[in-house]
Amino acid sequence: MPRVRVDAGKCVGHGRCYVLAPDVFEEDERGHCVVPREEIPESLADEARRGESNCPEAAIRVEGEGG
Ligand code: SF4
Repeated sequence: MPRVRVDAGKCVGHGRCYVLAPDVFEEDERGHCVVPREEIPESLADEARRGESNCPEAAIRVEGEGG
């Protein structure tokens, strides 16, 4: 299964990830990104990669199948 990692040290809370990919990313009380599940089904991989490619801080990494 693909894995999603967020570098909390890079995330500054733009919110693009959880706006564009709300099934994968959520916001905490400060507006920073959290991932409730690091392992996601392949069906959510495209959405996860949408968040990855739209994070201005390059804080998100999606690893695993489907490149
Ligand atoms: S888009 Fe990037 S910087 Fe913004 S909340 Fe998501 S992970 Fe954090």
